[in-house]
Amino acid sequence: MMTEILVATHNEHKKEEIQQILGEGFLVKSLKDYHIFDEIIEDGDTFEENAMIKAKFCYETTGIPSIGDDSGLVVDALGGSPGIYSARYAGDHDFNKNIAKVLEEMQSETNRRAYFITVMCYYDAEGARFFEGRVQGNLIAENKGHKGFGYDPIFVPEGHDMTFAEMSAEEKNKISHRRKAVDQLLKFLG
Ligand code: IMP
Repeated sequence: MMTEILVATHNEHKKEEIQQILGEGFLVKSLKDYHIFDEIIEDGDTFEENAMIKAKFCYETTGIPSIGDDSGLVVDALGGSPGIYSARYAGDHDFNKNIAKVLEEMQSETNRRAYFITVMCYYDAEGARFFEGRVQGNLIAENKGHKGFGYDPIFVPEGHDMTFAEMSAEEKNKISHRRKAVDQLLKFLG
């Protein structure tokens, strides 16, 4: 029997990515599939809180086991910024401006260590369960590559010599924070 899961996103690409990793035993649905068009306000102080706000909203609206996720870039030398503010670090959703702000703040920094993190919350009648994925790496001083999104052009994952933006989607998805979080979730769901 197929288990239906609702992902708290309007992004069909995110839905497909999760569907692919979870495989045939699961039927992944998005907010669109449920005709839910509300904007879910993510006003938590942590990745966990934001992931739970989304998952809980979906579960309480539909009664279907739901997944919410929150991701971001965490930079050592910036005390963890941009963190939960990754999407709009420079004020809006402009990826180039966000990168420019991080690079400017990092100008005189020799510690270039950073990681991407995804926290997923699975919410059902039993409440919230959390799953996390991280990928460690270093930030370079200027953009390299044009694939991917967000901070990909300045992030070189550990053990590699190219940025996420120079990798194919397949290569990135094998080692990404999101992949690791969904793998943990899959282990739990069995
Ligand atoms: P979200 O929670 O998945 O929407 O991610 C929030 C923000 O974190 C995005 O808007 C990006 O700025 C950043 N981010 C998350 N995942 C990635 C990634 O895989 N590459 C680059 N940036 C990312």
